[in-house]
Amino acid sequence: AAEVAMYRVKQDGRNGLRFFAPEMQAHTQRSLELAAGLKDAAHRGELFLVFQPQRTLGSGALAGAEALLRWRHPRWGLVSPAEFIPIAEQSGSIVAIDFWVVEQVAQQLRAWDAAGLPPLVVAVNVSAAQFARPHFVEELVRILQRMDISPQRIEVELTEAVALKNPEQAETTIRRLHEVGFRVALDDFGTGYSSMSYLKRYAIDKLKIDQSFVRELAHQASDQAIVTAIIKMAHSLRMATIAEGVETAEQAALLQACGCDEMQGYWYSRPLEPAAFEAFVRNAQAGVELA
Ligand code: C2E
Ligand code: MG
Ligand code: MG
Ligand code: MG
Repeated sequence: AAEVAMYRVKQDGRNGLRFFAPEMQAHTQRSLELAAGLKDAAHRGELFLVFQPQRTLGSGALAGAEALLRWRHPRWGLVSPAEFIPIAEQSGSIVAIDFWVVEQVAQQLRAWDAAGLPPLVVAVNVSAAQFARPHFVEELVRILQRMDISPQRIEVELTEAVALKNPEQAETTIRRLHEVGFRVALDDFGTGYSSMSYLKRYAIDKLKIDQSFVRELAHQASDQAIVTAIIKMAHSLRMATIAEGVETAEQAALLQACGCDEMQGYWYSRPLEPAAFEAFVRNAQAGVELA
Protein backbone atom coordinates (compact mmCIF):
# COMPACT_ATOMS: atom_id res chain seq x y z
CA ALA A 1 0.00 0.00 0.00
CA ALA A 2 2.88 2.31 0.87
CA GLU A 3 4.45 1.75 -2.52
CA VAL A 4 1.24 2.53 -4.30
CA ALA A 5 0.81 5.70 -2.29
CA MET A 6 4.34 6.86 -3.08
CA TYR A 7 3.85 6.18 -6.73
CA ARG A 8 0.68 8.21 -6.74
CA VAL A 9 2.30 11.11 -4.97
CA LYS A 10 5.11 11.10 -7.53
CA GLN A 11 2.62 10.92 -10.36
CA ASP A 12 0.62 13.76 -8.93
CA GLY A 13 3.75 15.76 -8.38
CA ARG A 14 4.86 15.27 -11.97
CA ASN A 15 1.46 16.01 -13.39
CA GLY A 16 1.08 18.93 -11.04
CA LEU A 17 4.40 20.37 -12.13
CA ARG A 18 3.78 19.91 -15.79
CA PHE A 19 0.40 21.57 -15.38
CA PHE A 20 1.63 24.26 -13.04
CA ALA A 21 4.65 25.54 -14.97
CA PRO A 22 2.95 26.92 -18.08
CA GLU A 23 0.27 28.46 -15.90
CA MET A 24 2.89 30.21 -13.81
CA GLN A 25 4.56 31.44 -16.96
CA ALA A 26 1.29 32.76 -18.34
CA HIS A 27 0.62 34.49 -15.05
CA THR A 28 4.04 36.12 -14.99
CA GLN A 29 3.69 37.06 -18.62
CA ARG A 30 0.38 38.74 -17.89
CA SER A 31 1.73 40.56 -14.82
CA LEU A 32 4.72 41.82 -16.79
CA GLU A 33 2.51 42.98 -19.63
CA LEU A 34 0.15 44.68 -17.23
CA ALA A 35 3.03 46.40 -15.42
CA ALA A 36 4.51 47.62 -18.73
CA GLY A 37 1.13 48.61 -20.13
CA LEU A 38 0.14 50.60 -17.06
CA LYS A 39 2.82 53.21 -17.68
CA ASP A 40 0.99 54.79 -20.62
CA ALA A 41 -2.45 53.27 -20.18
CA ALA A 42 -3.89 56.67 -19.32
CA HIS A 43 -2.28 58.35 -22.35
CA ARG A 44 -3.52 55.61 -24.64
CA GLY A 45 -7.03 56.20 -23.36
CA GLU A 46 -7.36 52.73 -21.82
CA LEU A 47 -8.19 53.95 -18.31
CA PHE A 48 -11.58 55.32 -17.41
CA LEU A 49 -13.65 56.00 -14.33
CA VAL A 50 -16.99 54.69 -13.21
CA PHE A 51 -19.01 56.32 -10.45
CA GLN A 52 -20.97 54.41 -7.83
CA PRO A 53 -23.85 56.35 -6.26
CA GLN A 54 -24.12 56.47 -2.47
CA ARG A 55 -27.47 56.80 -0.73
CA THR A 56 -28.61 58.43 2.49
CA LEU A 57 -30.38 55.69 4.44
CA GLY A 58 -33.01 57.84 6.17
CA SER A 59 -34.27 60.04 3.33
CA GLY A 60 -33.26 57.80 0.44
CA ALA A 61 -31.59 60.80 -1.19
CA LEU A 62 -28.45 60.54 -3.30
CA ALA A 63 -25.55 61.32 -0.96
CA GLY A 64 -22.57 61.33 -3.33
CA ALA A 65 -20.48 58.91 -5.35
CA GLU A 66 -17.21 56.99 -5.34
CA ALA A 67 -14.94 57.14 -8.38
CA LEU A 68 -13.61 53.68 -9.29
CA LEU A 69 -10.89 53.04 -11.85
CA ARG A 70 -11.31 50.73 -14.84
CA TRP A 71 -8.77 49.53 -17.39
CA ARG A 72 -9.69 48.25 -20.80
CA HIS A 73 -6.53 46.45 -21.88
CA PRO A 74 -6.10 45.93 -25.66
CA ARG A 75 -5.19 42.24 -25.18
CA TRP A 76 -6.69 41.22 -21.83
CA GLY A 77 -9.94 43.16 -21.94
CA LEU A 78 -11.38 44.65 -18.78
CA VAL A 79 -8.86 44.18 -15.96
CA SER A 80 -10.03 44.55 -12.37
CA PRO A 81 -8.42 47.21 -10.15
CA ALA A 82 -8.07 44.47 -7.55
CA GLU A 83 -5.49 43.00 -9.96
CA PHE A 84 -3.82 46.04 -11.51
CA ILE A 85 -3.67 48.43 -8.53
CA PRO A 86 -1.24 46.14 -6.64
CA ILE A 87 0.84 45.84 -9.84
CA ALA A 88 0.81 49.62 -10.24
CA GLU A 89 1.92 49.93 -6.61
CA GLN A 90 4.84 47.56 -7.18
CA SER A 91 5.94 49.11 -10.45
CA GLY A 92 5.63 52.64 -9.13
CA SER A 93 3.12 53.85 -11.71
CA ILE A 94 0.40 54.19 -9.06
CA VAL A 95 1.24 57.79 -8.15
CA ALA A 96 0.79 59.08 -11.70
CA ILE A 97 -2.40 57.04 -12.04
CA ASP A 98 -3.84 58.36 -8.78
CA PHE A 99 -3.20 61.96 -9.82
CA TRP A 100 -4.73 61.21 -13.21
CA VAL A 101 -7.83 59.96 -11.36
CA VAL A 102 -8.11 63.20 -9.38
CA GLU A 103 -7.76 65.22 -12.58
CA GLN A 104 -10.45 63.14 -14.31
CA VAL A 105 -12.80 63.49 -11.35
CA ALA A 106 -12.30 67.27 -11.35
CA GLN A 107 -12.95 67.41 -15.08
CA GLN A 108 -16.06 65.27 -14.67
CA LEU A 109 -17.36 67.48 -11.85
CA ARG A 110 -16.91 70.52 -14.09
CA ALA A 111 -18.84 68.84 -16.87
CA TRP A 112 -21.66 67.84 -14.51
CA ASP A 113 -21.78 71.33 -13.00
CA ALA A 114 -22.10 72.77 -16.50
CA ALA A 115 -24.86 70.26 -17.27
CA GLY A 116 -26.80 71.49 -14.25
CA LEU A 117 -26.36 68.52 -11.94
CA PRO A 118 -26.44 69.21 -8.17
CA PRO A 119 -22.95 69.81 -6.70
CA LEU A 120 -22.10 66.28 -5.62
CA VAL A 121 -19.16 65.18 -3.49
CA VAL A 122 -17.07 62.46 -5.15
CA ALA A 123 -14.83 60.10 -3.20
CA VAL A 124 -11.43 59.10 -4.60
CA ASN A 125 -9.22 56.25 -3.45
CA VAL A 126 -5.70 57.16 -2.46
CA SER A 127 -2.76 54.75 -2.43
CA ALA A 128 -0.04 54.64 0.23
CA ALA A 129 2.61 55.93 -2.18
CA GLN A 130 0.51 58.96 -3.13
CA PHE A 131 -0.49 59.70 0.46
CA ALA A 132 3.15 59.56 1.59
CA ARG A 133 4.32 62.24 -0.83
CA PRO A 134 5.66 65.26 1.09
CA HIS A 135 3.46 67.71 -0.84
CA PHE A 136 0.51 65.42 -1.41
CA VAL A 137 -2.12 67.90 -0.20
CA GLU A 138 -0.68 70.80 -2.20
CA GLU A 139 -0.46 68.59 -5.30
CA LEU A 140 -4.15 67.74 -4.98
CA VAL A 141 -5.08 71.37 -4.44
CA ARG A 142 -3.11 72.45 -7.51
CA ILE A 143 -4.89 69.94 -9.74
CA LEU A 144 -8.30 71.08 -8.48
CA GLN A 145 -7.41 74.77 -8.79
CA ARG A 146 -6.53 74.25 -12.43
CA MET A 147 -10.04 72.86 -12.95
CA ASP A 148 -11.63 75.44 -10.68
CA ILE A 149 -13.10 72.74 -8.42
CA SER A 150 -13.26 73.28 -4.65
CA PRO A 151 -11.64 70.64 -2.39
CA GLN A 152 -15.02 70.52 -0.63
CA ARG A 153 -16.27 68.47 -3.57
CA ILE A 154 -13.73 65.71 -2.93
CA GLU A 155 -13.67 63.03 -0.27
CA VAL A 156 -10.29 61.34 0.15
CA GLU A 157 -10.56 57.62 0.91
CA LEU A 158 -7.73 56.05 2.86
CA THR A 159 -7.48 52.50 4.11
CA GLU A 160 -6.29 51.78 7.63
CA ALA A 161 -3.13 50.29 6.14
CA VAL A 162 -2.40 53.53 4.27
CA ALA A 163 -3.13 55.67 7.33
CA LEU A 164 -1.15 53.52 9.74
CA LYS A 165 1.97 53.05 7.64
CA ASN A 166 3.34 56.24 9.13
CA PRO A 167 0.95 57.37 11.88
CA GLU A 168 2.70 60.69 12.62
CA GLN A 169 2.78 61.76 9.01
CA ALA A 170 -0.81 60.59 8.54
CA GLU A 171 -2.05 62.74 11.39
CA THR A 172 -0.42 65.83 9.88
CA THR A 173 -1.55 65.06 6.35
CA ILE A 174 -5.15 64.41 7.39
CA ARG A 175 -5.19 67.69 9.31
CA ARG A 176 -3.83 69.50 6.23
CA LEU A 177 -6.47 67.85 4.04
CA HIS A 178 -9.15 69.27 6.34
CA GLU A 179 -7.58 72.71 6.51
CA VAL A 180 -7.94 73.12 2.77
CA GLY A 181 -11.48 71.70 2.72
CA PHE A 182 -11.27 68.00 1.79
CA ARG A 183 -13.29 65.36 3.58
CA VAL A 184 -11.59 62.19 4.71
CA ALA A 185 -13.09 58.71 4.85
CA LEU A 186 -11.54 55.52 6.20
CA ASP A 187 -12.11 52.75 3.63
CA ASP A 188 -12.63 49.01 4.32
CA PHE A 189 -13.00 49.80 8.01
CA GLY A 190 -12.70 46.80 10.31
CA THR A 191 -10.38 44.75 8.09
CA GLY A 192 -7.11 46.45 9.07
CA TYR A 193 -5.40 46.73 12.40
CA SER A 194 -8.28 48.75 13.83
CA SER A 195 -6.18 50.36 16.50
CA MET A 196 -8.81 52.47 18.21
CA SER A 197 -6.39 55.10 19.48
CA TYR A 198 -5.77 56.69 16.08
CA LEU A 199 -9.48 57.16 15.50
CA LYS A 200 -9.66 59.87 18.13
CA ARG A 201 -6.39 61.46 16.96
CA TYR A 202 -7.19 61.54 13.26
CA ALA A 203 -9.80 63.94 12.00
CA ILE A 204 -11.73 61.32 10.03
CA ASP A 205 -15.18 62.35 8.79
CA LYS A 206 -16.56 58.99 7.79
CA LEU A 207 -16.02 55.29 8.36
CA LYS A 208 -16.74 53.00 5.44
CA ILE A 209 -17.86 49.72 6.99
CA ASP A 210 -16.25 46.95 4.97
CA GLN A 211 -18.48 44.75 2.86
CA SER A 212 -17.28 41.63 4.69
CA PHE A 213 -19.48 42.69 7.64
CA VAL A 214 -22.43 43.44 5.36
CA ARG A 215 -22.44 40.23 3.30
CA GLU A 216 -23.95 37.97 5.99
CA LEU A 217 -25.62 40.73 7.97
CA ALA A 218 -29.07 39.18 7.72
CA HIS A 219 -27.84 35.76 8.91
CA GLN A 220 -25.00 36.48 11.31
CA ALA A 221 -25.81 37.93 14.73
CA SER A 222 -22.07 38.53 15.20
CA ASP A 223 -21.92 40.79 12.12
CA GLN A 224 -24.94 42.73 13.38
CA ALA A 225 -23.21 43.21 16.72
CA ILE A 226 -20.00 44.41 15.06
CA VAL A 227 -21.80 46.77 12.70
CA THR A 228 -23.89 48.21 15.54
CA ALA A 229 -20.76 48.74 17.64
CA ILE A 230 -18.88 50.44 14.77
CA ILE A 231 -21.80 52.80 14.14
CA LYS A 232 -22.19 53.68 17.85
CA MET A 233 -18.48 54.31 18.22
CA ALA A 234 -18.34 56.39 15.02
CA HIS A 235 -21.25 58.56 16.08
CA SER A 236 -19.87 59.15 19.57
CA LEU A 237 -16.63 60.29 17.88
CA ARG A 238 -18.70 62.50 15.52
CA MET A 239 -17.98 60.44 12.46
CA ALA A 240 -20.54 59.42 9.86
CA THR A 241 -20.86 55.83 8.64
CA ILE A 242 -21.41 54.30 5.22
CA ALA A 243 -21.83 50.58 4.57
CA GLU A 244 -20.16 49.07 1.50
CA GLY A 245 -21.34 46.18 -0.64
CA VAL A 246 -25.05 46.42 0.17
CA GLU A 247 -26.73 44.01 -2.24
CA THR A 248 -30.20 43.39 -0.77
CA ALA A 249 -33.17 45.35 0.57
CA GLU A 250 -32.88 43.30 3.76
CA GLN A 251 -29.29 44.44 4.33
CA ALA A 252 -30.29 48.05 3.69
CA ALA A 253 -33.19 47.82 6.19
CA LEU A 254 -30.96 46.24 8.83
CA LEU A 255 -28.29 48.90 8.35
CA GLN A 256 -30.89 51.63 8.70
CA ALA A 257 -32.19 49.98 11.89
CA CYS A 258 -28.59 49.94 13.20
CA GLY A 259 -28.39 53.71 12.64
CA CYS A 260 -26.02 53.62 9.66
CA ASP A 261 -26.04 56.95 7.80
CA GLU A 262 -25.40 55.94 4.20
CA MET A 263 -25.00 52.92 1.98
CA GLN A 264 -23.27 51.99 -1.24
CA GLY A 265 -23.75 48.78 -3.16
CA TYR A 266 -25.33 46.97 -6.08
CA TRP A 267 -28.76 47.19 -4.46
CA TYR A 268 -28.80 50.96 -4.92
CA SER A 269 -26.62 51.01 -8.02
CA ARG A 270 -23.62 49.42 -9.66
CA PRO A 271 -20.72 51.71 -10.54
CA LEU A 272 -21.83 53.63 -13.65
CA GLU A 273 -20.10 55.25 -16.60
CA PRO A 274 -20.50 59.04 -16.63
CA ALA A 275 -23.52 59.23 -18.96
CA ALA A 276 -25.40 56.54 -17.04
CA PHE A 277 -24.45 58.20 -13.77
CA GLU A 278 -25.83 61.52 -15.00
CA ALA A 279 -29.11 59.83 -15.93
CA PHE A 280 -29.21 58.15 -12.50
CA VAL A 281 -28.78 61.50 -10.75
CA ARG A 282 -31.52 63.11 -12.83
CA ASN A 283 -33.89 60.26 -12.00
CA ALA A 284 -32.98 60.45 -8.30
CA GLN A 285 -33.65 64.20 -8.44
CA ALA A 286 -37.03 63.59 -10.04
CA GLY A 287 -37.79 61.23 -7.16
CA VAL A 288 -37.99 58.20 -9.39
CA GLU A 289 -37.07 55.01 -7.57
CA LEU A 290 -34.72 52.81 -9.53
CA ALA A 291 -34.81 49.09 -8.86
P1 C2E B 1 -12.90 49.96 -2.57
O1 C2E B 1 -12.39 51.35 -2.58
O2 C2E B 1 -13.24 49.37 -1.25
O3 C2E B 1 -14.15 49.97 -3.56
C1 C2E B 1 -15.32 49.21 -3.37
C2 C2E B 1 -15.33 48.00 -4.29
O4 C2E B 1 -16.53 47.26 -4.06
C3 C2E B 1 -15.37 48.35 -5.77
O5 C2E B 1 -14.64 47.35 -6.45
C4 C2E B 1 -16.85 48.26 -6.11
O6 C2E B 1 -17.09 48.05 -7.48
C5 C2E B 1 -17.23 47.05 -5.27
N1 C2E B 1 -18.67 47.02 -4.95
C6 C2E B 1 -19.54 48.04 -4.86
N2 C2E B 1 -20.78 47.62 -4.52
C7 C2E B 1 -20.68 46.28 -4.37
C8 C2E B 1 -21.64 45.25 -4.01
O7 C2E B 1 -22.82 45.49 -3.73
N3 C2E B 1 -21.16 43.96 -3.94
C9 C2E B 1 -19.86 43.67 -4.22
N4 C2E B 1 -19.49 42.38 -4.15
N5 C2E B 1 -18.93 44.61 -4.57
C10 C2E B 1 -19.35 45.90 -4.63
P2 C2E B 1 -13.62 47.69 -7.62
O8 C2E B 1 -14.18 48.82 -8.44
O9 C2E B 1 -13.29 46.43 -8.31
O10 C2E B 1 -12.34 48.25 -6.87
C11 C2E B 1 -11.61 47.42 -6.02
C12 C2E B 1 -10.60 48.20 -5.22
O11 C2E B 1 -9.60 48.76 -6.07
C13 C2E B 1 -11.20 49.38 -4.47
O12 C2E B 1 -11.83 48.97 -3.28
C14 C2E B 1 -9.96 50.22 -4.24
O13 C2E B 1 -9.25 49.74 -3.12
C15 C2E B 1 -9.15 49.97 -5.50
N6 C2E B 1 -9.36 51.10 -6.43
C16 C2E B 1 -10.38 51.31 -7.30
N7 C2E B 1 -10.21 52.48 -7.97
C17 C2E B 1 -9.05 53.02 -7.50
C18 C2E B 1 -8.31 54.25 -7.79
O14 C2E B 1 -8.71 55.11 -8.59
N8 C2E B 1 -7.13 54.45 -7.11
C19 C2E B 1 -6.67 53.54 -6.17
N9 C2E B 1 -5.52 53.81 -5.55
N10 C2E B 1 -7.35 52.41 -5.87
C20 C2E B 1 -8.51 52.15 -6.52
MG1 MG C 1 -12.92 53.02 -1.74
MG1 MG D 1 -13.91 49.71 0.49
MG1 MG E 1 -10.94 47.89 -0.88
